[in-house]
Amino acid sequence: MTATPEPKVVLVTGASSGIGAATARTLATAGHHVILTARRTDRIAALASDLTADRHVAEARPLDVTDQAAFHEVVEDVVSAYGRLDVLVGNAGVMLLSRLDALLVEQWDRMFDVNVRGLLNGIAATLPVFRRQGSGHVVTVASIGAHQVVETSAIYSATKYAAWALTEGLRLESEPGIRVTTISPGVVDTELADHITDPLAAEAMRIYRAASIRPEDIANAIAYALAQPTNVDVNEIVLRPSAQR
Ligand code: NDP
Repeated sequence: MTATPEPKVVLVTGASSGIGAATARTLATAGHHVILTARRTDRIAALASDLTADRHVAEARPLDVTDQAAFHEVVEDVVSAYGRLDVLVGNAGVMLLSRLDALLVEQWDRMFDVNVRGLLNGIAATLPVFRRQGSGHVVTVASIGAHQVVETSAIYSATKYAAWALTEGLRLESEPGIRVTTISPGVVDTELADHITDPLAAEAMRIYRAASIRPEDIANAIAYALAQPTNVDVNEIVLRPSAQR
């Protein structure tokens, strides 16, 4: 008989849709205590309420990951309420693709603010807690864009290469009790590409994104990394549709 895993206290960023929402649902269903965070509070509140109605432990907390003080506050509140925080799933991200010569500089800034600074804010808020506890797990949702650049993805890929490098650096610098995992998905069927405003990039993505996998497939990969014995650190998982080249 397999023992029920010890419930972990897990904070998920960007839990209002796509991969973050699926991860919150999957982990709560597996018995973990999940704190869903995002800016669209109606969505995280509805999902948390569904999960609690099914007798899982979940709560929603508004959080814009670019707000460093707010990130610290949420983490402090979680530690006060649950006595600890075991896992940060740094998932919040935006993908506003365009060619560099389109000069959509406000969108470049937004991608760096959310995908890089948002991740750093999460590390800054949780690392002291993990060090104090002598245990913790940072799961970064990077991308296949952390491994390759295509036309229109220069800035997005730059943010995801950065996310990969930050997470790898954290792994190298962390004491043994702290685990670090980078998840690099290929095309996943979510709202991510719906926010692209550049017509050329939007059309290219329509073709590129024709074959996709489900957000739940990524959630299962995260659940796998969490479920390993504490001395096993799943450093990176790259997963994409079998049809994606
Ligand atoms: P979605 O657009 O469905 O989800 C993005 C999430 O990020 C939303 O929950 C959104 O919440 C949140 N978010 C955006 N800006 C902020 C912010 N400032 N503060 C807090 N949360 C924010 O797309 P996905 O689920 O696909 O994206 C999740 C992650 O997966 C991203 O990091 C993305 O780069 C990565 N990824 C996705 C792939 C795909 O093909 N879908 C492939 C590879 C990687 P809200 O707006 O409510 O704040």
